Amino acid sequence: MAFLEIENLRKTFGANTVVQGFDLAVEKGEFISFLGPSGCGKTTTLRMVAGFEQPDSGRIAIGNKDVTGLRANQRQIGMVFQSYALFPNMTVAENVAYGLKIARRPAAEIRARVEEMLALIKLPSMAQRYPHQLSGGQQQRVALARALSINPQVLLLDEPLSALDAKIRISLREEIRAVQRKLGITTIYVTHDQEEALSISDRIVVMNEGRIDQVGTPFEIYNRPKTRFVASFVGTLNIVQGEVLDAALGRIQIDGQEVKVSRGLNGLASGATQAFALRPEAVTLGEGGDGRNRLRGTIDQVSFLGSVVRIRVRLKDNAILLDTFNNPNLTPPEFGSAVAVNFGTEDLLVLEGGERG
Ligand code: ATP
Repeated sequence: MAFLEIENLRKTFGANTVVQGFDLAVEKGEFISFLGPSGCGKTTTLRMVAGFEQPDSGRIAIGNKDVTGLRANQRQIGMVFQSYALFPNMTVAENVAYGLKIARRPAAEIRARVEEMLALIKLPSMAQRYPHQLSGGQQQRVALARALSINPQVLLLDEPLSALDAKIRISLREEIRAVQRKLGITTIYVTHDQEEALSISDRIVVMNEGRIDQVGTPFEIYNRPKTRFVASFVGTLNIVQGEVLDAALGRIQIDGQEVKVSRGLNGLASGATQAFALRPEAVTLGEGGDGRNRLRGTIDQVSFLGSVVRIRVRLKDNAILLDTFNNPNLTPPEFGSAVAVNFGTEDLLVLEGGERG
């Protein structure tokens, strides 16, 4: 059994089903992100794991123990919120000591633990300050120390960086990950920010309308998205429509130009229309070598983004975005020029069809 088991969780608010059929097994020490757009049920799922919300059905087990019916304070969970939620009239040290005081730990143990936690989050000199005397980033580090001080079995973070500015967000997410690795604590991190999820997670759970679309490592989620939703929510993407010519031979055509697809066509009928995902960074300008797919079109957009120049090549109904690295010694490709683009047969990803595809 995995350390944290979530089975067939379901939650409705009135007529609104916000989480359904949610299954997940999390290994001890794993860092998992719940990623999805606003309203997809991330927070509700996290709150059910925490014990702040009761599921309508389903089961949650931590360390082989069924905790579904237990209240939050009986689950040994550490929680960090977007809003920090520090006690404003308590010092940093008192905030960090809070859970240990409630648990009636001896004073000497509390003192030692607070010191250890403040060293861990690199704020040892701030013990006697009050929250309003700290920056947002510092307050969130204190909230993290407070959550960890009770030595929880699972750490839950609900959009902890959303209230902070971009630079702090990046440094703090690296710090959170470093602390998590150091303690080896099983962690669930809720975010709607795909870059954040990709950069810090062992595995990402992509949620869409209360259900899981895909669970995978950042590499898998980005490079092998299973549904159209995952593909378009994570990263920039081309979605092109192709017509199947011969599935067994991997032959399709896009706007009348034949290309090959190395996998995923099995079972599709000749003449069927199929959506494919293609990452901009998998596409290169030029004819390409043997075994590469080649499509011809016209450049109808050039966006200079600094280190990268993003180019759009219009075929007919389809257009393909591609990224090239800026080279100060070369003139960028020109709007309106006729070009070829090339990519590997494995770079065209078949997107699952259907309502949720
Ligand atoms: P966000 O990032 O906006 O918080 P989320 O993915 O975390 O989104 P949830 O907060 O879990 O989504 O909300 C999922 C849906 O459940 C939303 O439509 C929300 O309005 C609804 N919801 C959440 N809590 C309640 C509640 N206590 N009563 C009624 N509806 C709720």
